[in-house]
Amino acid sequence: MTGPAPDRAKVALVTGSSSGIGKAVAERLAADGHRVVINSVRSVEEGEKVAAGLPDAVYIGADVSVEEQARNLVAQTIEHFGRLDVLVNNAGRTRAVPHADLTGASPELWREILDLNVIGTWQTTVAAMPHLTRTGAGCVVNISSIAGSRPAGSSIPYAVSKAAIEHMTRLLANTVGPEVRVNAVAPGLVETAWTQNSDFFAPIAEHVRKTAPLRRVGRPDDVAEAVAGLTRAHYTTGQVLLVDGGAHLI
Ligand code: NAD
Repeated sequence: MTGPAPDRAKVALVTGSSSGIGKAVAERLAADGHRVVINSVRSVEEGEKVAAGLPDAVYIGADVSVEEQARNLVAQTIEHFGRLDVLVNNAGRTRAVPHADLTGASPELWREILDLNVIGTWQTTVAAMPHLTRTGAGCVVNISSIAGSRPAGSSIPYAVSKAAIEHMTRLLANTVGPEVRVNAVAPGLVETAWTQNSDFFAPIAEHVRKTAPLRRVGRPDDVAEAVAGLTRAHYTTGQVLLVDGGAHLI
């Protein structure tokens, strides 16, 4: 396609899209013809750079764990593009705490992780819902993790936050149809800033390379491909798609 996107081009908002999986998702949806909103909270320069590299994208900074900022993010999206068709709730955080270190998973850590991963996802979705509904074919894709359904993950609070996102996905799907579909993608280990050069993830990566059916660790574009597929899967809602090279089988 050449020239500016037509006015009717769909608009996608990807939270936490200045790097890693979110960036790959934003780039993939842009390649599919979406106009895209890039978001992050701290890495403003990186986010602006991602937006500048796409045909019709804008960067909007917001901490989605703060309700007012999540609402503003959606409001500014509508102000800029006039519509919202796809919301990808990707922003998330973790900290590596061995599961056996029960006191290491402090109440503060629980609150920090749940505030962004669960409540951030919820309040961004709630703010976006009237606009997604208006299109008649809105789509939400939540980024979960293999840790949401397997006894794995960087910490118990992180794994529980992803399990919550998966059930939120099913409950919302059952509530907001037929106008809006809600699905999730649950990646296994993916090479991003979080996981590269990490003592915690290195042995897991080695295990995945040796034993998972597809014999490699995931790349951000593997996850982006699955998200893009779900945006087109018009008869699919309430699903959680594992994108893990088969690692759940080992
Ligand atoms: P990343 O650190 O590269 O990206 C995180 C993004 O979120 C960044 O753009 C960051 O600026 C943004 N962000 C952080 N806090 C935010 C906030 N409060 N408000 C808005 N944006 C915020 O990490 P990643 O590895 O690409 O992870 C992205 C998602 O994928 C997370 O939800 C994570 O749980 C999930 N995930 C990652 C892996 C993996 O192996 N990397 C595996 C499974 C699931």
